[in-house]
Amino acid sequence: MSELRKDPVTGRWVIISTERRKRPTDFRLEPVRPAPDGTCPFCEGHEQMTPKELLAYRQNGSAADAPGWTLRVVPNQFPVLRVEGTLDRQGEGLFDKMNGIGAHEVIIESPRHDATLATLDEGAVEQVLWACRERVQDLKRDHRFRYMIIFKNHGAAAGASLEHSHTQLIALPIVPREVGDEVDGARAHWVAKERCVFCDILRQETADARRLIAENADMVAVAPYAPRFPFETWILPRRHQALFEEAPRHEYAALARLLGDLLRRMNTALEMPPYNLLIHSAPVAEAAGEYYHWHVEIIPKLTKVAGFEWATGFYLNPTAPEEAAQVLRDART
Ligand SMILES: [Zn+2]
Ligand SMILES: [Zn+2]
Ligand SMILES: [Zn+2]
Repeated sequence: MSELRKDPVTGRWVIISTERRKRPTDFRLEPVRPAPDGTCPFCEGHEQMTPKELLAYRQNGSAADAPGWTLRVVPNQFPVLRVEGTLDRQGEGLFDKMNGIGAHEVIIESPRHDATLATLDEGAVEQVLWACRERVQDLKRDHRFRYMIIFKNHGAAAGASLEHSHTQLIALPIVPREVGDEVDGARAHWVAKERCVFCDILRQETADARRLIAENADMVAVAPYAPRFPFETWILPRRHQALFEEAPRHEYAALARLLGDLLRRMNTALEMPPYNLLIHSAPVAEAAGEYYHWHVEIIPKLTKVAGFEWATGFYLNPTAPEEAAQVLRDART
């Protein structure tokens, strides 16, 4: 029997389709293995191929936009939104629109073309998280921006146009709907129960353990109760905090450690899968301190969204989260 399950945060229903049950080997996998590329603009020595850096971590006082860095942040060469100009809201009768103001930045995670978040050492992954924090804190000073979304496309099948490992940051003049749904759900839970729904999830999942994948002193990785996609994984900080960019340093270190461990488990179990990763944090102007709880979502790209999903907003997931968690717990790294 299939099972309908409701996500406790957003109220979104999913169908866990056990009739179509899929194990890792049943997916048509598209392994991601970066190969050397002499024309890559993100490689060390090619700094002139990108716009000027906004931030870089460098050793030995090397010059900006020159070799000697361990991480660089640059504006996206083909931004979806542009920084210049004033925000102009207008409409055509019924229809709302505004001009394309925003910021679109790229965090180049390593000077090496073949490095990934799964192969970089913990310190380098922590640096990526720290750079995201620094950029969000800087962009927050710009009052045109309501939300900063941090995300990563790993592999062409997950939407990456460049193979060299990088994370993207887009500052938006509106709060995106997926985030709005989570914030609304978390607020409603708070109003009803005076507790954070994510703290409640943490309490239940760590006590139950069937969907627990891995944990350390500060972070917990779980397969959510009502996942949209097979092997969807959330990493939550144990300590309640609404804003990613206000986490203490040791939590980034703990996240870097758990994220590396999780991605290596996925690489073993799912044969180097393409994936999307995103960080959800409270919107800039939302006083969500008590009820929202920042977290990371990782979604391996194993299935395609089809007509049923588009038509209904329901997701059809062929792998139960209990099974996904078991597979990832057992994966050797
Ligand atoms: Zn490269
Ligand atoms: Zn919480
Ligand atoms: Zn989320």
